[in-house]
Amino acid sequence: MKDQDSFEYVKDLFTEYLLKHHHRKTPERFAILERIFIYEQHFTVEMLYNQMKDSYRVSLATIYNTIDLLLECNLIVKHLLGGQLAQYEKVSGLNTHHHLICTRCGKVKEFSDKQIRTSIQSKQFVHFQLSHYSLYLYGLCSKCQAELKNQK
Ligand SMILES: [Zn+2]
Ligand SMILES: [Zn+2]
Repeated sequence: MKDQDSFEYVKDLFTEYLLKHHHRKTPERFAILERIFIYEQHFTVEMLYNQMKDSYRVSLATIYNTIDLLLECNLIVKHLLGGQLAQYEKVSGLNTHHHLICTRCGKVKEFSDKQIRTSIQSKQFVHFQLSHYSLYLYGLCSKCQAELKNQK
């Protein structure tokens, strides 16, 4: 059995998806996928482009297009964090984590919680099969708290 978080596993899923939907299996698409799976953190399209352009000839259009495909086959998720640039993240079944989002500066901190995990995984949903999940908790980061305090 393959490790669900291994690159080989996601590569197979992506190949299957491309074949099934008659998309071309271009080396660029796989290079982008491979780069994404190195990230432990959230990333933006700009970040990905800047890090890839030196080692690999890949256009911004190809990155956007590949990201759309990866979103469609659920290998990555798009985080909607207010008015900021869209942030993406790989989906990893084993490492579910949640997000603390500062409503003032947009900073994101991640955390995991065993109790939340147990509670959600033991839930039975009617006519719904859970694949992955993530929680967003909104508030103020310590830096913003300090700044607001000093303004008074
Ligand atoms: Zn995250
Ligand atoms: Zn903040």
